[in-house]
Amino acid sequence: MDAFLRVLRSGQYILGPELENFERVVADRLQVKHALGVSSGTDAILLALMALGIGPGDEVVVPSFTFFATGGCVERLGAIPVFCDVCPGCYNLDAKDLERRITPRTRAVIAVHLFGQAADLDGIRQVLGGRDIRLIEDAAQAIGAAYHDRSVGGQSDFGTFSFFPSKNLGALGDAGLLVTHEDDLADRARLLRVHGARPKYYHHMVGANFRLDALQAALLSVKLPRLSDYEAGRRRNVDCYRERLGALPGVAASEEGRCGCGQAASGRSTPAGGARLILPEAIPGRHHVWNQFTIRVPGSGRRDALRRWLAESGVDSEVYYPVPLHLQPCFARFRGDALPISEALASEVLSLPIFPEMTEGQRERVVDRVETFLRNEI
Ligand SMILES: *Cc1c(COP(=O)(O)O)cnc(C)c1O
Repeated sequence: MDAFLRVLRSGQYILGPELENFERVVADRLQVKHALGVSSGTDAILLALMALGIGPGDEVVVPSFTFFATGGCVERLGAIPVFCDVCPGCYNLDAKDLERRITPRTRAVIAVHLFGQAADLDGIRQVLGGRDIRLIEDAAQAIGAAYHDRSVGGQSDFGTFSFFPSKNLGALGDAGLLVTHEDDLADRARLLRVHGARPKYYHHMVGANFRLDALQAALLSVKLPRLSDYEAGRRRNVDCYRERLGALPGVAASEEGRCGCGQAASGRSTPAGGARLILPEAIPGRHHVWNQFTIRVPGSGRRDALRRWLAESGVDSEVYYPVPLHLQPCFARFRGDALPISEALASEVLSLPIFPEMTEGQRERVVDRVETFLRNEI
């Protein structure tokens, strides 16, 4: 309330000192040179692609199993989204499959750190080798996550974040962030954020309105120092789920130390053969911040049956995401090969409640409902 009053009395509601303060603090926290507050996580991706000069005819490789914006922004610039399969263990871009998607027209790759866990950045970088291909990290769900002890988002040309209310750091509405280490790229993005104008009304490039409101920036400045507390709250839920659900018969516990990266290319979709429920994995060397706790429920119709069962007992769950991008009607003209892991995940995944404020009683209720579902099946 204090922060809001400060903004209301200031008379400056867009960009300005509140945003500059937030940008400084968040850049420090994410160990990046430049951080730009923007209108949303989607606009952060669009702005990154625009600053890199991506346009008609350019190919940009994106994972098929992700939120729509990752591919939608590519198409909006007239470029071609090239859909890549994902790893069945960490649900992220499969570096081996990526290798098969690279062509002489590939200009960029967007690696998504889905559900709060980093993608296999070493594997991806190895595939890109010395080629002139830019890497963008879509870290919308992964603020605070790390890869080899360094924050995600700052390990490539551009990192993008979302402060949509369901993300680990949520605003009271739409907000996002773009980060980079490169001065030139930061400068281009800053210009494009305000219709390419410098000074006002003198336009060097065609940009758009990608600005962030001062009220959101002020709120985010208050919440950022508490990010670790929110993360700890999510982790409490995860620890309980892994211990209690992992002990149930037929449940494949997260296998520590093993990522399925590379399996997409070989077409293997299920790491734990015969399991009735597969818990998410936390891969060593990647600090998982658990934006979602996403289980796999293999077998025709079983995921939807579990979801209905939970809903009947007042437990919310969500399917992130029911249709992989390469099967979306609006991308039909870009459709290539079948992507077996993305398709399997879309039919099997279910995200359980994991918000930081969850009580022990609420956690127990989720575990109890899942347990009775499995017991009733036999
Ligand atoms: C939420 C999200 C976005 C988009 O962020 P908005 O702030 O909702 O525009 C992009 N990519 C991924 C992976 C997301 O989860």
